[in-house]
Amino acid sequence: MKPLLAAICALTTLASAQVTAIRAGRLVDPDSGTVLTDQVILIRDSKIEKVGKGIDVPVKATIIDLSKMTVLPGLIDCHTHVADGAHDGEPMGQFKKTGAQVVLESVPNARAMLESGFTTVRDVGTYRALGDIALRDAINRGDIVGPRMFVAGAYVTISGGAGALTGLAPDIQLPWDLHYGEANSPWEVRKVVRQLAHDGVDHIKVLSSGAVLTHGSNPHSQEFTPEELQAAVDEASHFGLRVEAHAHSPEGIKNAIRAGVASVEHASMIDDEGIALAKQHGAYLDMDIYDEECIQEEGRNGKMPKDFLEHDAQLGQIQRDNFRKAVAAGVKMSFGTDAGVCAYGTSGKQFAFMVKYGMTPMQAIQAATSNAADLLGHSSEIGSLKPGKYADIIAVPGDPLADIRLLEDIRFVMKDGKIYKQ
Ligand SMILES: [Zn+2]
Repeated sequence: MKPLLAAICALTTLASAQVTAIRAGRLVDPDSGTVLTDQVILIRDSKIEKVGKGIDVPVKATIIDLSKMTVLPGLIDCHTHVADGAHDGEPMGQFKKTGAQVVLESVPNARAMLESGFTTVRDVGTYRALGDIALRDAINRGDIVGPRMFVAGAYVTISGGAGALTGLAPDIQLPWDLHYGEANSPWEVRKVVRQLAHDGVDHIKVLSSGAVLTHGSNPHSQEFTPEELQAAVDEASHFGLRVEAHAHSPEGIKNAIRAGVASVEHASMIDDEGIALAKQHGAYLDMDIYDEECIQEEGRNGKMPKDFLEHDAQLGQIQRDNFRKAVAAGVKMSFGTDAGVCAYGTSGKQFAFMVKYGMTPMQAIQAATSNAADLLGHSSEIGSLKPGKYADIIAVPGDPLADIRLLEDIRFVMKDGKIYKQ
């Protein structure tokens, strides 16, 4: 391109940029744990350009007046299953649908997550492998409405394990996408991780103990061996990917932390040694302490399989008590709800439980913003409202630091500089 033409092109790009200014009455900064007042957020296209008091607003800027509201960074749920289709407490439901059906049923899940203020999710596995990648890419192309998705592609699990579709007769042969992440040795784990990296996943989900919501599973058990977990973390690191581990049992949790996972999911029965290890390794705990309400509710309505309720007995309260211990010990905590267990779009209900079990309101907000972004490895792009980051912005009336339940009803949602709810 000739220099003059290049200059004209650059000028045209500048002139056509969409400039927006948000007047924020109160602005929560999770990086510093403070609330600023009377701020202006200047947005150019999808990114934040400036934030501060008394910033010059360009004449052509679109002004959004949130001066009577509290403005926060878009929320991040680090444990969702958005791509699992319509809500169904029974994994066997997967056999009644094609892969295409499951992904299309997931379209409203994605919209519900975004409209409830969650501009980013870390989606940690789907029974139909790679459907989450298709969903993520459709959102990124703008074909459908949804949060920024970071996806796992499949569950990396032992045969018959927490991430497998279990309960079938041994002579039933599953199609490829219903057992894509099955692995039974360190080298099989490496092979699966390599395949998933090639498929374009953003992180790897391994299952280190049995599960509550899987037939024939025992949450008190260990599944992958330390060698297999180390293979997952090492192989994933070759592709720049982080690993999260599902684990309820104390040994499953500790094996995963020692192997170097970025986060432990659920962490229900973490013991004192596990808490000390998490601190020492800088591992996040991503504890879904609200969804017990939904499991019990569905149990009362007869919608939850009986064996799942037996697995769950007492585990909910144990997990909440251990959440309190981990917070008091100063372990790094992120916000993850296991969305899909409770209805999509209701993740915000977990905030009040995090406060009830020992967090300050600011800590609960940090878990879902700055901490979550750090866990994802994307602190330079999301997690707080700073120049250069994506304009992922939400707002609520009133003061969520005084009443955390305000985060259950987000009134304004912007993602990538585009308004989705106002
Ligand atoms: Zn889950």
